[in-house]
Amino acid sequence: MKITSVECHVLLAPNMSTGSTSSAQDSFILIIHTDEGLSGIGESDVNPWIARACIEAPGTHTMGLGIKETLIGADPLDQDLWQRLYVGTAMNGRRGAVIHALGAVDMALWDIRGQAAGKPIFELLGGAKQEFVVPYASLQPAGNRWEEYRDSLCEWAARAKGLGFKAVKAEITMNGPYAHDGMREPYEHHTRVVEAVRKTLGPDIALMVDVQYMWPDAETALRTVKDWAEFNIFFLETPIWIDRLDEYARLHDEAPMPIAAGEWQATRFEFEDLIVRGKIDVAQPDVGRVGGFGEAKAVCEMAEAKGRIIVPHCWKTGVSVTATAHLAFNAPNCRFIEYLPPELCTETLRRELAIDGFTFKNGRIEPPTKPGLGAELNMQALRAFEVT
Ligand SMILES: [Mg+2]
Repeated sequence: MKITSVECHVLLAPNMSTGSTSSAQDSFILIIHTDEGLSGIGESDVNPWIARACIEAPGTHTMGLGIKETLIGADPLDQDLWQRLYVGTAMNGRRGAVIHALGAVDMALWDIRGQAAGKPIFELLGGAKQEFVVPYASLQPAGNRWEEYRDSLCEWAARAKGLGFKAVKAEITMNGPYAHDGMREPYEHHTRVVEAVRKTLGPDIALMVDVQYMWPDAETALRTVKDWAEFNIFFLETPIWIDRLDEYARLHDEAPMPIAAGEWQATRFEFEDLIVRGKIDVAQPDVGRVGGFGEAKAVCEMAEAKGRIIVPHCWKTGVSVTATAHLAFNAPNCRFIEYLPPELCTETLRRELAIDGFTFKNGRIEPPTKPGLGAELNMQALRAFEVT
């Protein structure tokens, strides 16, 4: 089989705002076509214009090959292809946007491989290591004052509980670089919001808290979170800036809850730094951003060998959500995946671009059954949201 063409699509939600802290307002969709009539789709969570440039830029030397140029004519079933692209783009890539773009390529290649084999991707990755996958609902706060923010989170928490979710993640970011609507609430108000959400949920639902890099250092974070033991937090996500690995290690040692990070990371090597030096408890690879299924699986295996759990990041359309489910079925240490049924999402692209390739029933995700990725792109929506 040979690759005949590679399509890059830059998509934008019509209501997008650069002031909103949500990367689901855009999408980069890549479609690989072959001479045998099979086509694969991939997606990645990175600025779509940048991703398109990473794929389409012509190569200029052996350490800076063009990705599209390398793909055309190659055999999509060749499992060394990712490594050739990684080595061939090293002087421009190794980390960052080129790796995130390669994640979409890898997803599309595995989609083709699954269709060619007549099997869902997780079967090709080594089969199901768990019977079902438990999703957690990301709650979507609204409001500009902390009381409104608290009440909206509690409303969402009650709704998720009603839908049978066994776990939820509350974004409680009313300060710091990614504060909701530029809010500047004291840290003490964050404690009050955590307390209210826990009360709404009751004791039996796992509660994760994402503060989106809010505190400047471990010392400041600890002053607030040292009192959070009573709320039984499943994990605290990205409490401080991601490059401060020694500060992360201190939080692992002194905070009364597990620490999670990894939504931005590219390749297994960045996760090795996070786990070994940063001592994080929960690794959160994003299938597209980390570089695709191969890198994501390597992260899961490394985390397992070091006694860590996986809760992948995914804040994108049904294409990435389905890819995340395939990864999770194959990873025995994957405890939850990020998932909201599209009809509950406020994000236009999540609601309209693709249909998930699995069934969600009784608070559980069932194994995908279709060959390949199994997510279905709505081509009409793709045309409607496409920009140049
Ligand atoms: Mg996050």
